Amino acid sequence: MSTSKPRIAIVGYGSQGRAHALNLRDSGFDVTIGLRPGGPTEIKARADGFAVKTPAEAVKGAELVAVLTPDMVQPQLYGEVIEPNIAPGACLLFAHGFNVHYEQINPRDDLDVVLVAPKGPGALVRREYEIGRGVPSVYAIHQDRSGNAEALALAYCGGIGGARQNAIKTTFKEETETDLFGEQAVLCGGATKLVQAGWETLVEAGYQPEVAYYECLHELKLIVDLFYEGGITRMHEFISETAQYGALTRGSYVIDDNAKAQMKKVLEEIQDGTFARQWIAEYAAGNANYKAMKQGDLDHPIEAVGKKLRANMKWLANAPQPQAAARPAAQPEEAAA
Ligand code: NAD
Ligand code: MG
Repeated sequence: MSTSKPRIAIVGYGSQGRAHALNLRDSGFDVTIGLRPGGPTEIKARADGFAVKTPAEAVKGAELVAVLTPDMVQPQLYGEVIEPNIAPGACLLFAHGFNVHYEQINPRDDLDVVLVAPKGPGALVRREYEIGRGVPSVYAIHQDRSGNAEALALAYCGGIGGARQNAIKTTFKEETETDLFGEQAVLCGGATKLVQAGWETLVEAGYQPEVAYYECLHELKLIVDLFYEGGITRMHEFISETAQYGALTRGSYVIDDNAKAQMKKVLEEIQDGTFARQWIAEYAAGNANYKAMKQGDLDHPIEAVGKKLRANMKWLANAPQPQAAARPAAQPEEAAA
């Protein structure tokens, strides 16, 4: 097989799948998409000009199989479709270590098993590639039977543009635990709750919801851009002395020792498997709690205020769109279909 340009099958054409497929093709790889006939993203993959086969057929012809379906459908997909069809000695690639690390998938012994995880959503993986940049990626090796596993992971990482940044070598364990922690405590969970609580505090005190939206949500991007470009140092270079003094004396009112202790609890539940067991059970039971809690975020009054204000921000028409038609809520029936 070719280590520099393995023949690739990508199973799943959602956020990551579409971005990887388009970038790899533009980088000169032979890419086939594996999707259930009539599934929600099949039309999109065909419209993008890809050869679309059933997952089983796509897997059969590949030297490298990238598993880019939702994490919760991967164990059944692996057992029923991938393992019976993947060629001896082929390479199995994941974009998140969850199922291997928590032993929901135990890959066949003859396979190379690698991880290439871009540290950003699929739409950005594509957009950054198109403008000649890349989303930082990490990679890891779980099984190296061919002796080429690392070269294959790096070839794939290069093909999606992730090696334009410093690709960092990690392990399945480190990627899984840090990825879950980041999204729960800081990026998705922590940031959402911080914004909502700040907005509620101002609105409950009688301030205009629109003004509170600008202060607590919209301006967050301007601060995060400074973090991205030059860390917290750069933020301090750009904000006023008054903002600096306020931040330095009041930030720890909010993120205090208790908040840090709670972060430690989040991490412990990831490390000891509590979170994984809970999420797997929730998914298996039909996601009722997940859907209800998500609806709570969608119905939060800050969303209506933001929608109205963003209608005047014409430039947002160019913002990347979510890729997966199937995105609104993970459906257990997806796995069965
Ligand atoms: P997604 O929900 O956006 O897309 C899933 C795709 O899989 C869709 O094309 C769907 O139709 C298809 N699919 C669902 N069930 C299937 C089945 N049984 N057989 C075949 N196809 C099926 O998924 P995603 O968010 O891109 O996540 C894919 C992987 O990438 C996950 O391991 C995730 O942890 C990882 N990841 C995601 C992100 C992100 O930003 N979304 C970032 C890094 C890593
Ligand atoms: Mg993640």
